Amino acid sequence: MKIKFIGATETVTGSKHLLLTEKGKQFLLDCGLYQGLGKETDSLNRHLGVNPSHIEAVVLSHAHIDHSGNLPFLVKNGFMGKIYCTPATYDACEILLLDSAHIHESDIRYINKRRLKKGFDPLKPLYTSKDAEECLKRFRPIPYHHEFHLCDELSFHFTDVGHIIGSAAINITSNEENKILKLCFSGDVGRYNDLILNAPEPFPQADYIVCESTYGNSIHENPENSELKLLNLIIKTCIEKKGKLIVPAFSLGRTQEIVYLLNVLKNKNLLPKMKVFVDSPLSFKATQVMRKHPECFNETLKASLHQDPDPFDFEDLKYIEDVEDSKFLNEIQEPCMIISASGMGDAGRIKHHLSNTIGNPNNTVLIAGYCSPGTLGADLLAGHKQVHIFGEVFEVKAEVEAIQSLSAHADSSDLLRFLSCQNKEKIKKIFLVHGEAESKLGYRSLLIQHGYREVIIPEKGESFLLS
Ligand SMILES: [Zn+2]
Repeated sequence: MKIKFIGATETVTGSKHLLLTEKGKQFLLDCGLYQGLGKETDSLNRHLGVNPSHIEAVVLSHAHIDHSGNLPFLVKNGFMGKIYCTPATYDACEILLLDSAHIHESDIRYINKRRLKKGFDPLKPLYTSKDAEECLKRFRPIPYHHEFHLCDELSFHFTDVGHIIGSAAINITSNEENKILKLCFSGDVGRYNDLILNAPEPFPQADYIVCESTYGNSIHENPENSELKLLNLIIKTCIEKKGKLIVPAFSLGRTQEIVYLLNVLKNKNLLPKMKVFVDSPLSFKATQVMRKHPECFNETLKASLHQDPDPFDFEDLKYIEDVEDSKFLNEIQEPCMIISASGMGDAGRIKHHLSNTIGNPNNTVLIAGYCSPGTLGADLLAGHKQVHIFGEVFEVKAEVEAIQSLSAHADSSDLLRFLSCQNKEKIKKIFLVHGEAESKLGYRSLLIQHGYREVIIPEKGESFLLS
């Protein structure tokens, strides 16, 4: 068997790795979108680096768009096989891929308006909602730990990595010419103290490991007590200053973590009486996906379901889907909390809420996740006194706070712990992907210090024989 690294080599997006059997059969691990790479992004996504019609099947680690987001383009261009993932990943892809298609469609409408004015031909979106729907028909959910045969020579099973709902490491067994080889692709690894999800579980001994390295070079800050910090912010903003607390949050993951923290505070009778709104149709749907998959919850949360069967709902919480209801939130004068997408504040309804609230010193913006440089969330976090929203300049008078402890990604010590279930002597090679150059180099040094022998940073397009 050979592995060829096609995506997520120089960057953290575009996850895509090709497996080739000795008989020439081809399988993909992930087929993600490149994101945030400026003008290059679109062209990178349109050049798949494989012939879609030659791919027998795709095995998908998790639903994040940088891992799943180019599947509709693969199907549109002739891929005829099945896409295997966990049941929760399928449910999450059902909403995220359609959302991704809507974004491509609306972006291209905007671009084409400007092109037409200049007399240029209109462009086509990478894929449409119809393409995403066609793609979803090819999904086949496979539960964790179930050994599934892709062909005579290859089988795999998923193990939980606790990164987002349904996220998995893919454990592949190849049996070619009576030689058995094991390969583990980590996907994205979660943390060992996640509020909602299971900790990453041990995986079977592998000969080869393809490991993510997003935070391979860093340790997350000491987790502050996020429950207490959130409560203090609510009291300060909504009770003492009678203002609004605005939280930009990713629809799948961070939104449910914040709601869960509020639910815990409510159950302890610590949450002041006030309205809380989750204003995003996608966040509402994502919460439904979470509710459907308690198998992914950690033991603490599972145990608490006996007393409180829905950890994502409580009195005074309202999920808002309708756009008119969303607009009505601007009229509300009383103190309240609004959680809305996107998490970086640069798209979706959160832009309206930020433009309406950041001019008032009684309000607080709570940044609860990673914000790429140049996004509105990053500007606010950096303390900019003026920001641009909808092409207008806004004075920032609201307070800006952050909760740093809610990362969905393992840091370098979590990544070491993830590998600690392995006998180092038996690992032939570890390949590092999904990290910026510094993270990969740092993680490689760390692994070598800890006695791992051959740690390779593959380049885009590089192939390795696994024997
Ligand atoms: Zn991810």
